[in-house]
Amino acid sequence: MRTGIFGGTFNPVHNGHLKLAYTYLDALALDRMLVIPTRIPPHKKADHLVSGEDRLEMCRRAFESDRRFWVSDIELCREGKSYTVNTLEELHGRFPDDEFYLIMGSDMFFTLTEWFHWQRLFELAVMCVGEREPDLNVRLREYAGRLEKLGARCRVVDLKPVEVSSTQVRQCIADGKDISGLVPPGVAGYILEKRLYGSKNPQ
Ligand code: ATP
Repeated sequence: MRTGIFGGTFNPVHNGHLKLAYTYLDALALDRMLVIPTRIPPHKKADHLVSGEDRLEMCRRAFESDRRFWVSDIELCREGKSYTVNTLEELHGRFPDDEFYLIMGSDMFFTLTEWFHWQRLFELAVMCVGEREPDLNVRLREYAGRLEKLGARCRVVDLKPVEVSSTQVRQCIADGKDISGLVPPGVAGYILEKRLYGSKNPQ
C-alpha cells in the first residue's frame, strides 16, 4: 500500500492543508493518507497552541468526508517531543509492507537536513514537496537534487498553492473577521463552539 504521511501542527487545520493533501493523493496515486497532528512541534514555538485533542478533532472534521484519510493520534499519544523519524519507525513496524511518502510544504522541505536523524528519515520515506508560494518550483527541484545526492528520494509535485496559513486564520479570529473562506465549515463550527483562539460564539 502507498501511504502518505501528512504531519503538522494543524493549529488550526485550514484549506491550504486540504489542497495539499488532495493534490498529493492524486499526484502520487496514494491509497491512503495519515493526517498526524504533532504533539510538541520541534521546529516552531508553541505559542497559541490549542490542545492536542482540539487539533485532532478539527482534523477529523476537516477530513471525515473522505475515507482515504486516516486522522491519527500517534504523535499526541507519545510522551515528549514528536520527531517524524520516530513516527515513521513506528509506522514501519505496524505496516511493514507499506511504502511511505512524507508530505510537506516547501518551508519544511528546505529545513530537512536539520531534522532529527534525517539520514534515517531518508531511508524510511520518500520526501514529497509542493510549492507553498508561487514560482518556487525551480528552487525546489534544485534542492531536491542536492538532497538526492545525500541519499533522499524526492518527489516535487506541482501544487497551485492556496495562500492561507494557520497564523492568518488565528489573526482573523483575533480581529473578529469571518474565517469561512479559510477553513472547512466543520472546523469553523468547532472553533466557534469551543471558543478557540479567542473567538466569540454569536449565540
Ligand atoms: P502556522 O501559520 O501556525 O505556522 P501552517 O499554516 O504553516 O501554520 P502547519 O500545521 O505548520 O500549518 O503546516 C503543516 C504542513 O502543511 C507543513 O508542511 C506546511 O508547509 C504545509 N502547509 C501549510 N499551509 C500550506 C499552504 N497554504 N499550502 C501548502 N502547504 C501548506
